Amino acid sequence: MFDNLTEKLQATFKRMRSQGRLTADDVREGLRDVRFALLEADVNFKVVKEFLSQVEEEAVGQDVLDSLTPAQGVVRIVRDHLTTLMGGQVERIKMASNPPTVIYLVGLQGSGKTTTTAKLAKMLKQQGRQPLMVAADIYRPAAVDQLQALGQQIDVPVVFSPGLSPVQLAQEGWQKSRQLAKDVVLVDTAGRLHVDETLMTELVEMHEALPAHETLLVVDAMTGQDAVRVASAFKEKLPLTGVVLTKLDGDARGGAALSIRQVTGLPIKLVGSGEKVDALEPFQPDRMASRILGMGDVLTLIEKAEQSLDKDEIEERAKRIGTKDFNFEDFQAMLGQVKKLGPLSKVMEMLPGMGALNKYKDQVDDKGVDRVEAIINSMTIQERRKPDIIDGSRRLRIAKGSGTTVQEVNRLLKQFNDMRKLMKQMKAGKKRGMPKLPLK
Ligand code: GDP
Repeated sequence: MFDNLTEKLQATFKRMRSQGRLTADDVREGLRDVRFALLEADVNFKVVKEFLSQVEEEAVGQDVLDSLTPAQGVVRIVRDHLTTLMGGQVERIKMASNPPTVIYLVGLQGSGKTTTTAKLAKMLKQQGRQPLMVAADIYRPAAVDQLQALGQQIDVPVVFSPGLSPVQLAQEGWQKSRQLAKDVVLVDTAGRLHVDETLMTELVEMHEALPAHETLLVVDAMTGQDAVRVASAFKEKLPLTGVVLTKLDGDARGGAALSIRQVTGLPIKLVGSGEKVDALEPFQPDRMASRILGMGDVLTLIEKAEQSLDKDEIEERAKRIGTKDFNFEDFQAMLGQVKKLGPLSKVMEMLPGMGALNKYKDQVDDKGVDRVEAIINSMTIQERRKPDIIDGSRRLRIAKGSGTTVQEVNRLLKQFNDMRKLMKQMKAGKKRGMPKLPLK
């Protein structure tokens, strides 16, 4: 996500840091590079202009220039202003005091409405709500099937009846919510390739028949400033309350995330970061700003770690690192814990400095991790505890059992031994540096 922008910004700040003391002109020159980076990321040019004039005013201040680490000061100012630019605070989905809460999802075709409807239903369900979904995108027959399949997957009822118009379906959704005692009605609406009058009229009629508590515009983050134009057009006709930015896991450049709030005044409430039903998160401007600057999303990582990791297990295993007892059982257990945080490539993205270390991302290959796990799973308990007993015939058996090759088994054993040696040396303080982990 935003890799290109992050790389450019990091290069600029690195240059500034290497200068040590900075003059006002140095800062201005650095900010010029920031301007190019933002424009290249397809951020609206008026937004860029205003943003930079605010940043510059603060960043050339004497207290920044005179500080011990002026470049850090500039980064902090940029981060704070980026946060404000994206809305500053987390904006929650508002729930009606008198249920059911009615939430419409609107947007162009392919933006991710249907997927987001199901993701949001799942999120609300996890928060203890009782959602119901309405399949009102009747013009794209696959959309109804898609929503019904997703509904089954997450165990949320879907309202649809052939022959009913979208307006009637919305009303039917409300009726059903009363009958089934559901407290949220999520309406997946029809999209078109472009903003068009017929579509808008239909959406307006639906809102008249069943007024909304939230009307969320779903936009594809990869479309950059087009997303901003779409948002402005929808906002003219509909009572939009927020935006869902989808496909942030793809190669979105950043333009939409950084411009939409400022240009349209609409808060980004949620972001989609994958095709699966659980890939939806509240939009957190401060974390996003840190991530854009390559400062990593350590907070998200820590939160995930707190939720999913077994601390006792990790502590127990960690004690053995660097001792002769560290074996494949420990490694397997730790790998299992790390995997709970999500695909390794994603975890790495959240770590500070990783934007610049993209080349290492290729070193962790999630399939590679699966193969390593398969190899370890094919070992007997004895072999895991005492890897030294794994001779030629055992290697062949392990390779066959795990669907890998003897070469791969050999490589893992060699890397594991190297890692063990290095860890021992590191523990004894003889050598610094990270051993290559046997993950690929
Ligand atoms: P709709 O026409 O607006 O209802 O769009 P869909 O929900 O059918 O989504 C269009 C495509 O985008 C589908 O292939 C989805 O799987 C995909 N998609 C939706 N949201 C995301 C996301 O956050 N990340 C990724 N990678 N794909 C997404």
